[in-house]
Amino acid sequence: MPSFQFKTPPRIVCERGAALRLAPLLQGRRHAFVITDAGLVRAGLIDAPVAALRKAGLRVTVHDKVEADPPEHVVLAAVDAARVAGADCVIGLGGGSSLDTAKLVALLAASPQPLADIYGPQRATGPRLPLIQVPTTAGTGSEATPTSVVSTPDHQKRGVISSLLFPDVAVLDAQLTLALPPAPTAMTGVDAMVHAIEAYTTRHLKNPISDALAVRALQLLDRHLGRVIAQGDDIEAREGMLLGSMLAGMAFANAPVAAIHALAHPLGSHFHVPHGLANALVMVPVLRFNLPEAGAGYAELARALNPALHGASDGEAAEAFIATMAQHVAQAPMPQRLREVGIAANDLPMLAEAAMGVQRLLANNPRELNQTHALVLYTQAH
Ligand SMILES: [Zn+2]
Repeated sequence: MPSFQFKTPPRIVCERGAALRLAPLLQGRRHAFVITDAGLVRAGLIDAPVAALRKAGLRVTVHDKVEADPPEHVVLAAVDAARVAGADCVIGLGGGSSLDTAKLVALLAASPQPLADIYGPQRATGPRLPLIQVPTTAGTGSEATPTSVVSTPDHQKRGVISSLLFPDVAVLDAQLTLALPPAPTAMTGVDAMVHAIEAYTTRHLKNPISDALAVRALQLLDRHLGRVIAQGDDIEAREGMLLGSMLAGMAFANAPVAAIHALAHPLGSHFHVPHGLANALVMVPVLRFNLPEAGAGYAELARALNPALHGASDGEAAEAFIATMAQHVAQAPMPQRLREVGIAANDLPMLAEAAMGVQRLLANNPRELNQTHALVLYTQAH
């Protein structure tokens, strides 16, 4: 067996209503800085967790200025606000953008390093404030990853990757996800599937633990995605999605994602396509492109989803896997083509060039992918 390392958050709480019991997890801290977005505040999702913290004697400052694909200036403003408030712990409560912002606030509010100095792997020195992450979508798995992605002013997405960004506690409370409408439910759910698939077929750092997590994640997501789209308040299905999303996050935190994410990134940074949707739009063309190198992996995943395929050849099983994933996308209530999200045919060469800037992810792809390939894949997705 090859040698490997595996990193993950030290503590995970998976429990209905856990968001109302965060105070005991903060172990004597006095002032919590809660990072979220205005939509969740308007939806009333923040009220009960914040009230419970206050009832337990904590001061609470709610910062609701997170934006999707968090721009650098939004992150830095949140860091300043946490410093000014004098908070001594951070709670990320929201979707992936809130959790990614919370990671950097917990780090930079306590560390002398500027954000510009810590982009890239393992450049942050810390210290950081105690951090609890509470996802309200089942998608990014950000609560279980050491990465925070920031949109820089030059239309780039840059990642801070540091073990310091694992939270002290990840809290999965599916009740927080019940009200998410079908479209974002579908988009985030497909994103989680892509995390599992890309972790399982990545060229680097794949290992027995990430494989086991990716398989279990994909089983849960495959089984429950249709249910949560059809009936948002199905708590058991929501729990399946939230657990699947975190397991996929644990997997790709160690076995990194690849070309689907690399091709999705420019759709977000240039056209503000939501992250999950961007992945869904390019997923099937990239799966097909990767088939010559990743076919055996797809066949294994197919058999994990459908034991009836144990008698099928690898080729048949891999095709069945791609068909299953294509069906998940096709049945999701969301745009299906790049042209439906405001992208014109003559934008595609620029996107292909931009995707080549995401080498940190392309390097993980099971099959070498150049700019010509990227243009073909975007054209197929258009
Ligand atoms: Zn993703």
